Amino acid sequence: MRLVFLGPPGAGKGTQARLLSERYGIPAIATGDMLREARAAGTPLGREAGRAMDAGALVPDEVVIGLVAERLERADCEKGFILDGFPRTVPQAQALGKLLTLRGEVLDRVLAFDLSEPELLRRLTGRRVCRKCGTNFHLVSSPPKRAGACDRCGGELTQREDDHEATVSRRLAVYRAETQPLLDYYQRQGLLSTIPGEGSVEIIFSAIVRTVEKRA
Ligand code: AMP
Repeated sequence: MRLVFLGPPGAGKGTQARLLSERYGIPAIATGDMLREARAAGTPLGREAGRAMDAGALVPDEVVIGLVAERLERADCEKGFILDGFPRTVPQAQALGKLLTLRGEVLDRVLAFDLSEPELLRRLTGRRVCRKCGTNFHLVSSPPKRAGACDRCGGELTQREDDHEATVSRRLAVYRAETQPLLDYYQRQGLLSTIPGEGSVEIIFSAIVRTVEKRA
């Protein structure tokens, strides 16, 4: 099963990608996580990416395409994958198409998460992430049992640098300008399904499972 999760920042793609990955035993590949890891490792690529990320801008296409191309070579992608946060631009989508053609593969479905902008703002500014295992919490809608600590591993919860309000508006504007055109791009290929992104994690997850199993 080869899937792309498309949607604005804060739509819940990461949470759902992780759940789906557990259910089907295929990797969830999040370019945002890969870039944050590169930054934490202090590589030159990571440092350059970090500047764009903190500003709420996109990292250059060729950098992200290179990361994904390398990642898809790993053995765990043989049965499929979920791409979370990639592609984000038309050139990235074209590059992904070429990569898959070379591998003799096709995408099965592109799931577009649909949410209103006020809801996205609420989610992003209240989001807290575990430093250790990456689990997401929300100060209001899914607070941790103990303030500041992860329910799963006890790790420290932090706010992502790019979840501060000023950067969030920039990220949403970038989404509208660069990523939204991909809705049409995949619609024309007959691959797009829209998932209502508001509601509980469980309800959204069931909608996703229904959609991908219907098409499988
Ligand atoms: P995310 O965790 O998906 O919200 O990504 C965080 C940040 O990483 C984004 O705001 C971008 O700066 C960068 N990023 C992640 N994925 C991509 C991509 N496919 N293309 C360009 N930049 C990306």
